[in-house]
Amino acid sequence: MIRLAIVSPCYNEEEMLRISAGRLIELLDSMINAGQISPDSFVLYVNDGSKDASWSIIEELNRSDKRISGISLAHNVGHQNAILAGMMTVRTMVDGVVTIDADLQDDIRCIPQMVDLYGQGNEIVYGVKVSREADPVLKRITAQAFYKLQDSMGVQTIYNHADFRFMGRRALDGLSLFEERNIYLRGLIPLIGYKSTTVDDVISNREHGKSKYTLRRMLNLAFDGITSFSIRPIQIITLTGTVMLILAFAMLVYVVVSLIMGHYVPGWSSLMLSVWLIGSVLTIAIGVVGTYIGKMYMEMKRRPRYIIDQSLLPEDKI
Ligand code: UDP
Ligand code: MG
Repeated sequence: MIRLAIVSPCYNEEEMLRISAGRLIELLDSMINAGQISPDSFVLYVNDGSKDASWSIIEELNRSDKRISGISLAHNVGHQNAILAGMMTVRTMVDGVVTIDADLQDDIRCIPQMVDLYGQGNEIVYGVKVSREADPVLKRITAQAFYKLQDSMGVQTIYNHADFRFMGRRALDGLSLFEERNIYLRGLIPLIGYKSTTVDDVISNREHGKSKYTLRRMLNLAFDGITSFSIRPIQIITLTGTVMLILAFAMLVYVVVSLIMGHYVPGWSSLMLSVWLIGSVLTIAIGVVGTYIGKMYMEMKRRPRYIIDQSLLPEDKI
């Protein structure tokens, strides 16, 4: 039987917390009764610098049920960092962690399925949104466009998966080896490797409170999601420069033909050619410099180069 922690980040969630805690405890009880998880499994709320009564509600919930625990961060660090803080806090105490937003828009009935799939040898189980009916139209469209853009930039993520997932202890240990600061968990976790699978998550409307993801936060996340994993934007600059250089040669032909035909104004040919040539050379140069910076950036992250899944070593080597 595994000891499970359900980690839930909260930022100004006073309206949702009691309801959320009630449902999660009910779920833990049913899983404990079914013999799926051990009785010392628990919920961990990560208070991400809330300005409302969230933390005092978490304290109150903890007084009435010790299976509800919490950590309170010194200031608001954002959804991604809050989840990481929670996972790293419980990492050495548990066999597995489920991360779920405090508003419980995700389908909590997926959690027992996730634990079952872990039992079948999957180290990571991703909740994948099968229906976005409950999302506002704008959010749905922008989110889908974002997944496509990410894909075209070569960032490997799980399509339609947000941060509702199960991770076993080994995957958590793997995640702890990543030292980078600008984290985007949806891009990072697939890099850990190990056997993984997905479950279908039918999301529902937020019952109380407003979405904490403002447009600015969403754009920041999208920007991090691409720039932390891909230097393709830099490659695009180099490519643009090369295309411009080809255009410069086409221009050369055009200018020469115009000269021969006599259709020109004095100074026009040299000006025309210099604009295109200098432009393309500068763009290529930026691209080349950018490529080195891009490589340095990727190196600087000091990501682990490999994570061992299984090993068959002689006893004394372990
Ligand atoms: N959240 C957080 N820190 C923040 C912003 C959000 O911990 O700075 C939490 C929030 O309380 C919620 C989860 O992250 O549990 C997802 O936020 P929200 O539900 O507002 O986003 P949406 O579902 O609208 O994308
Ligand atoms: Mg939400």
